Amino acid sequence: MIHLVLFFFVLVIALPLNASENRDFVDISELDGSLVLDIRYATPRNFTGKVMYPVARCLLRRDAALRLIKVEQRLRAQGCRLIIFDGYRPLSVQKKFWNILPDERYVADPAKGSRHNRGAAVDVTLADLAGNPLAMPSDYDDFSEKAHRDYAGASLEAKKNCALLEAAMKAEGFDPFPTEWWHFDAPGWERYPVSDFSLEEFTVVHGEKSEQK
Ligand SMILES: [Zn+2]
Repeated sequence: MIHLVLFFFVLVIALPLNASENRDFVDISELDGSLVLDIRYATPRNFTGKVMYPVARCLLRRDAALRLIKVEQRLRAQGCRLIIFDGYRPLSVQKKFWNILPDERYVADPAKGSRHNRGAAVDVTLADLAGNPLAMPSDYDDFSEKAHRDYAGASLEAKKNCALLEAAMKAEGFDPFPTEWWHFDAPGWERYPVSDFSLEEFTVVHGEKSEQK
């Protein structure tokens, strides 16, 4: 009997939590439709060689998304812009990554949860104003020392671009990750819980909310 009571208690408190889990998330393209996205995990062009996301979209916590839009504006004033590779990543996808590459220098342990799983980290690179990628020290998801921020062997141009991106991101509060030049954590990431709703599911929830207005 006590188990049954507990079961219903958990059900009652768990349902509203699940329903509100993605309330604080936004689709950044809905805030700024001009942003350039190249969501690599929605293509085979990533370290797994497989399509890991069913849709190519960048969901983020609202505060992180607003900061990233400010970075874009800052960069445009300097003659370049962002390309976004990744934002929110469901925990279930993180577990698949960890099975392929269980190395915390490159993939966060799903037992702890990635900052991407919290919707509070972004992978980005620089492009010219037309959206053409600029030179960087390595490809995205290059898990070698070439991706490290202190890698000395990069070309002068790549180093300059890397420094430009880093300065613009830091100016809006993002924290650069030492072993991946493309990865930045949003300030206050630790305040957000790890999430596991699918990138497609967000469309449905958001669509329902829109219809109610
Ligand atoms: Zn990342």
